[in-house]
Amino acid sequence: MSVASLCAVCESREAERTCDRCGRGVCAQHYDDAFGLCLDCTDSAGSGGPGGPSDPDGTGRDDVDDNVQF
Ligand SMILES: [Zn+2]
Ligand SMILES: [Zn+2]
Repeated sequence: MSVASLCAVCESREAERTCDRCGRGVCAQHYDDAFGLCLDCTDSAGSGGPGGPSDPDGTGRDDVDDNVQF
């Protein structure tokens, strides 16, 4: 019985690649060829992404008022 390992991210596709960082198997969908990492790792790698609007450093939100609309 050959059970292919599943993607560590979605756990529904076959893990075709192995993340260079965490070593988990991930499917092509959740693997970034440019980095050789799974998307979890490219996510946490943070700075240096090819165009990623990351959170602004430092100061928290300034728009916290009493007027909270839901
Ligand atoms: Zn996946
Ligand atoms: Zn990883």
